[in-house]
Amino acid sequence: MRRISCDVLVIGGGATGTGVARDLAMRGLVTILVERRDLTHGTTGRYHGLLHSGGRYVVKDPQAARECYEENLILRRIMPHSIEDTGGFFVLTPWDDPAYAPHFLEGCRQAGIPVEEVPIRQMLKEEPLLNPSITHCFRVPDGAADSFLAANLNAESARQHDAEILTYHEVLRILRTDTQVTGAVCHDLIKDEEVHITSSMVVNAAGAWAGKIAASAGITIQMIPGKGTMVAVNRRIVNTVINRCKLPSDGDILVPAHTVAVMGTTDIKVSDPDRFGIEPWELRLMLDEGEKLIPGFHSFRMLRAWAGVRPLFQETVSTGTNRDVTRAFVLLDHSQRDGVDGLLTITSGKWTTYRKMAEVTADKVCEKLGIRAVCRTHLEVLPNQTTKPSSPPHYHHLGTRLGEIEHQQAYGKLVCECELAALADIEHAILQNDIHTLDDIRRDLRLGMGPCQGGFCTLRAAGLLHTLRHPSVLETNVAIRDFLEERWKGQLPILWGQQLRQARLNELIFKDVLNAGSLPGVSASRLAAERYAPPTSEHVSTTPAGPPAAIVSYAASQSTARSDVLVIGAGLAGLVAAWQVLQNGKKVRLIAKGWGATYWGSGCIDILKDQSIDDFIAANPSHPYTLAGMTALEQAFKSFQELCASAGYPLFGSLGENYLLPTALGTLRPSCLVPETMAAGDLRQHSPMLIVGFSQYLDFFPALVAENLNAQSIFANDLTLDLPTLQARKFVTGMVLARLFETPAFRLELADALRGRLGSATRIGFPAVLGLNESLAVKRDLEERLGLPVFEIPGLPPSIPGIRLHNILSKEIEKSGGRIFNGLQVDGCESAAGRIQAVFSEAAARHKSHAAEAYVLATGGLLGGGIHLTSAGYAQDTALGLPIPILTDRSSWHHETFLSHTPHPLHCIGHTVSTSFQPLDSQGAPIYENLYAVGGCLGGFDPLHECSLEGISLVTGYLVGKRLA
Ligand SMILES: Cc1cc2nc3c(=O)[nH]c(=O)nc-3n(C[C@H](O)[C@H](O)[C@H](O)COP(=O)(O)OP(=O)(O)OC[C@H]3O[C@@H](n4cnc5c(N)ncnc54)[C@H](O)[C@@H]3O)c2cc1C
Repeated sequence: MRRISCDVLVIGGGATGTGVARDLAMRGLVTILVERRDLTHGTTGRYHGLLHSGGRYVVKDPQAARECYEENLILRRIMPHSIEDTGGFFVLTPWDDPAYAPHFLEGCRQAGIPVEEVPIRQMLKEEPLLNPSITHCFRVPDGAADSFLAANLNAESARQHDAEILTYHEVLRILRTDTQVTGAVCHDLIKDEEVHITSSMVVNAAGAWAGKIAASAGITIQMIPGKGTMVAVNRRIVNTVINRCKLPSDGDILVPAHTVAVMGTTDIKVSDPDRFGIEPWELRLMLDEGEKLIPGFHSFRMLRAWAGVRPLFQETVSTGTNRDVTRAFVLLDHSQRDGVDGLLTITSGKWTTYRKMAEVTADKVCEKLGIRAVCRTHLEVLPNQTTKPSSPPHYHHLGTRLGEIEHQQAYGKLVCECELAALADIEHAILQNDIHTLDDIRRDLRLGMGPCQGGFCTLRAAGLLHTLRHPSVLETNVAIRDFLEERWKGQLPILWGQQLRQARLNELIFKDVLNAGSLPGVSASRLAAERYAPPTSEHVSTTPAGPPAAIVSYAASQSTARSDVLVIGAGLAGLVAAWQVLQNGKKVRLIAKGWGATYWGSGCIDILKDQSIDDFIAANPSHPYTLAGMTALEQAFKSFQELCASAGYPLFGSLGENYLLPTALGTLRPSCLVPETMAAGDLRQHSPMLIVGFSQYLDFFPALVAENLNAQSIFANDLTLDLPTLQARKFVTGMVLARLFETPAFRLELADALRGRLGSATRIGFPAVLGLNESLAVKRDLEERLGLPVFEIPGLPPSIPGIRLHNILSKEIEKSGGRIFNGLQVDGCESAAGRIQAVFSEAAARHKSHAAEAYVLATGGLLGGGIHLTSAGYAQDTALGLPIPILTDRSSWHHETFLSHTPHPLHCIGHTVSTSFQPLDSQGAPIYENLYAVGGCLGGFDPLHECSLEGISLVTGYLVGKRLA
């Protein structure tokens, strides 16, 4: 047990605790702050982001209103870096009582809050998306605040005055005698040891957990934790804080915060601040209330939902709703209240009033300890220490980051593209800040907070953490898993539309290509974020709210030439189908809105994870493999192998056995048919290998790969090269490397750099970027120069090996007379007598009609964008508007863990098909006689989970194409 002592121990690293620590330290008291996780782990890191003007409380809670306004003015002065002066509107919508407005104006006047009416025309000029039927709008001095940054700045200021800030220190119990509190016993979660802290005073600033802390000292505090749920829209749809002009209630504020806008909140009493969930009705309420402020709100892309608990307190037991409990703050002196000296509890209040709460608390501490020192926190500006010493004010604003990146021309050095978190900042945060987890980096730099929710930056940040801090690889692995699960928990409540598709892409990256589910080590650490309680059941409607979007038909302005077969979708399934139809000289057109999942996958052909196909077919009667049959699978496999071999890109493997290849995480990944460029990486034989990467290429960290292989008893060394050619480049992406590898000069430079550094390796692994068109020649040339077999390791998208497969098929189709049109989105069809007559596409504002004898739907599922799920829970095929069956109980759609061992049920949705692969209606009859579905749009199974993504596309595309030929 470690022992330390101080004058004052502050419990809680939220706004209040960091504020108290700063104030006490500035007054010269020896102060220690303990926080059970990272700073802002509690409510401060999960709030709404509003610097209140006080306007919200003027009618119902005038004291809280006055406190807010006074502090609003001070905070703007002392922390300009963490506050954005957005201003605020209070708007009267048709759903609000007009009689409230005069009370609101009078309340503002009495609280001294400046307010002015804004003409509706002016309001719409400033915020064009606001509902034009708003009748009144009042301007107040609201703002938006960055609570992560503010708490860090307070902590930094406290440190500068010699305070000690101990994160990941959880108070287990308060130490006390009969009448005196003497300190606390903590658990240091990083070192996993007890820490005994003695102090003259303890300040309980544990927010909604204040009751639990007091209870450990035998004192009862009646906290009323009030849970509030918020949802972030993926872009900043307003630049002003928008409040409804009415008594505070649910879902009545929209706050612009950095790159997003946040709608909130609810307020529900919960019995335990550590156990609460996000309920579907709360999300629905946010969307419905958002719609009243901004028409069309439902259709915006929601990024994430989260919930925090208000630290509300009332001395007498409250019987009303939480909205009736005052937001004014409370300081409890336990010597007066409970006869126990040495303990103060500061609670309730708002983020906006944290500084005043700290001042009052520090005054009391000084009075108790007989110290004469006055508060200076309102006079001294907080230090401008952010993630790096030279950061300009407002560094956290995207525009400022963009300005910096443009100034430094550091476009190619982004770790998190969504939030523009650059390499130098991440490195600085890892080396200089109190970082223990990837989530700590998120709080410091907004890593993973944008639309992809960590899909791309998790691997990069983990690689940097591993390289710079040298933890054991098992620690890095669990940091990755913790972060993936933390990001998942906030997406779960809002998985529909584009964000659902994003989640599926993240699954492709982590479950499939990187096989993160098999990372060595434990599945979660004690530093992992807590999960929300599972939501209660809610049944969704299986009928659309309005007309299904894609079946609206219209007169096309142009018709294309009639073809025998029209394939819709250019992923592997669509391309294979088109290639097969062309074998018999038929006229084929392929139209697609993009290039499909081949561009994102591993570039291998996965058939099945670990089971024999015969057994699998016997056990799964309606699976596409069973419908297609073993013979078709063998033929498809062989034909594709022949095609790739004739294109100079041989694929190795046989149906009965899987290769075991390393991934860019150093996990082992089974695959059936692998390009020659990857084959030497086969881990079924254990010969030692050297894993080589490049300092400038942030998608591949050789040490992470090698150490994970070592952890699985596969001998591997690593080497990161810093080549002059790459130093001179601003962008070093997979595509840039692929093109460089095709130049002899680069290969020579590489071989020279590797000479004498191969150690005992008998093979060399590179990221999968060994050329786009000449990869085999590149590989063979490298082998000749290095004298050892060389292989590629797949990683983050875009997938160079996947693009190679795409190119082989596209060229073959064009060579056989087929035509491929990209950028055309099919959005409806015309039918008669049970047959499709034509489908319609839209591009560049031109509508085209495409007629054919037969149509092949190869649009992909949720991943490929062929299936869309609305927020109301209606699932539909995006090309033709066909309904997709779905589990009606929303709570059963997903598992609690992202890397779940069983498929997420929602991710198995798709078309039910006949033995001829015709989509069937709910009665089991073909929807259209001449429509077929192949690949990812088929339902009833999860190809990412089975490891059958490419196999299903290959065999179904092959079979349907062959039959139509
Ligand atoms: C949904 C919602 C929206 C809100 N929106 C706004 C807003 O827009 N504007 C505004 O001004 N206010 C807002 N508030 C209120 C505001 O967020 C809180 O009043 C404020 O953040 C509370 O800060 P705190 O430091 O007192 O508590 P917290 O931030 O909760 O800090 C307490 C800390 O104590 C730590 N702790 C708990 N137990 C232990 C232990 N055993 N050992 C060590 N540490 C421990 C916790 O981990 C936590 O970090 C909102 C609150 C909610 C719930």
